[in-house]
Amino acid sequence: MTRYDYDLFVIGAGSAGVRASRISANHGAKVAVAEEYRVGGTCVIRGCVPKKLLVYASQFSEEFEDAVSGYGWTVGETSFSWPKLIANKDREIDRLNGIYIRNLERAGVEIIQSRAILKDAHTVHLVAESRDVTADKILIATGATPFKPGSVPGIEHAITSNEAFHLEELPEHVTVVGGGYIAVEFAGIFNGLGAETTLLYRRDRILRGFDEDLRIGLMAEMPKKGIDLRTNADIESIERKGKVLHATLKDGSIIETGAIMYATGRMPHSRGMGLEEIGVEIRKNDAIAVDAYSQTSVPNIYAVGDVTDRAALTPIAIREGQAFAETVFNNNPIAVDHSLIPTAVFSQPELGTVGLTEHDAREKFGEIDIYKTSFRPMKHTMTGRHEQTFMKLVVDAKSDRVLGVHLMGPSSGEIIQAVGIAVTMGATKKQFDQTVAVHPTAGEELVTLKEKWTPPAEPAAPKAAD
Ligand code: NDP
Repeated sequence: MTRYDYDLFVIGAGSAGVRASRISANHGAKVAVAEEYRVGGTCVIRGCVPKKLLVYASQFSEEFEDAVSGYGWTVGETSFSWPKLIANKDREIDRLNGIYIRNLERAGVEIIQSRAILKDAHTVHLVAESRDVTADKILIATGATPFKPGSVPGIEHAITSNEAFHLEELPEHVTVVGGGYIAVEFAGIFNGLGAETTLLYRRDRILRGFDEDLRIGLMAEMPKKGIDLRTNADIESIERKGKVLHATLKDGSIIETGAIMYATGRMPHSRGMGLEEIGVEIRKNDAIAVDAYSQTSVPNIYAVGDVTDRAALTPIAIREGQAFAETVFNNNPIAVDHSLIPTAVFSQPELGTVGLTEHDAREKFGEIDIYKTSFRPMKHTMTGRHEQTFMKLVVDAKSDRVLGVHLMGPSSGEIIQAVGIAVTMGATKKQFDQTVAVHPTAGEELVTLKEKWTPPAEPAAPKAAD
């Protein structure tokens, strides 16, 4: 009989916390989870899920155009209602929220609607209920929150993705700041739904860390869809003039816009909950320091998901939650492998990527072979839309193993999920080639790439006399 109220107290009912709670309870632990906002966390409530619904909504404008220009349709007058979309989205999110709550309850997990603060290594204070509870193990799964640079005068007028999901109306013009996942995804959403959209990125190439060809490729495609993509551009200050925001850029130019959305990264949500006070090590970037088994510097306290900033992706958070439960409550230690993570960016066009970029592969393996192709997707041979699909394989020249796959084009997220299996299994280029093509698809290019790509020869140095 435990001397604590609970075997496990989880703080945060997002992807990581919910999975850890459910599986720990399944293994016989007495579990409670505290959540101050809504069960489901960022991904379900104001992240991946509503974002993808908005991406679907934003793609219809092109679908209507393509139907008419290439496929014989006559489309009557179309109009779009932002409030209707948001209401439908909210209804779906409510449904998912209900499912998450029911799954926790079915597993026997007690849900406590409150902010939770640690008083000592085994005592949690529940702010909303003004009471303390105790637990043998405590799991921090509080996720991350959007970061806005506080140094920009007028930054209080800017929103983040959190608020973007609840705008009352779609502004005529939207400015998005940042060059990461969220910035490029939302730029595509706003643009597709009909807002004039400006994307400002402070350096010269968006999506730092991705394969260079994808970065270059997406930067070529976004303006074709109407996005005003400005690089080496950043906001100096923001001023509100009535309904209009005036953003003064560092080069002195001014953008008049209806909304400014910062997508400049997310900070682990670790401060102000008593962690430092009881000796839990927190890194400079606010991430909770953990070992391979998600254990913090205080042995009975663990942390999983975005708050640990290992890989801020839902499927990884879920894995970390599952691995924690197996390790601590099923005597089955599991360390999550963060080395090979397939991922998609729901930009327009979409990106899918797994494994090493060309640059990283060259650094790690030396000699590598590159196979790549770009082509107009079959659908657009009839629409006349000038959109390119791009595919690239990065192969270890010595072992023939496929080290990385990088895609841009429709359904890249779906394709990369399947190709990710082969790459995770260590498939070789020869095995890719042995796989029969599915025709006609874009994905078949991945198994029919024959020519090694060779970098264009350096232009000859001009002769002194030239
Ligand atoms: P990212 O870290 O991906 O990108 C942040 C961007 O903001 C970078 O381009 C960065 O520029 C820029 N930036 C940072 N600070 C400033 C500043 N002070 N002024 C101007 N620009 C700045 O963060 P996101 O917010 O896009 O996403 C957070 C995480 O959420 C991602 O890392 C990802 O793991 C996850 N996510 C995953 C999705 C998916 O799987 N499809 C979708 C959405 C989010 P620089 O490059 O110069 O640092």
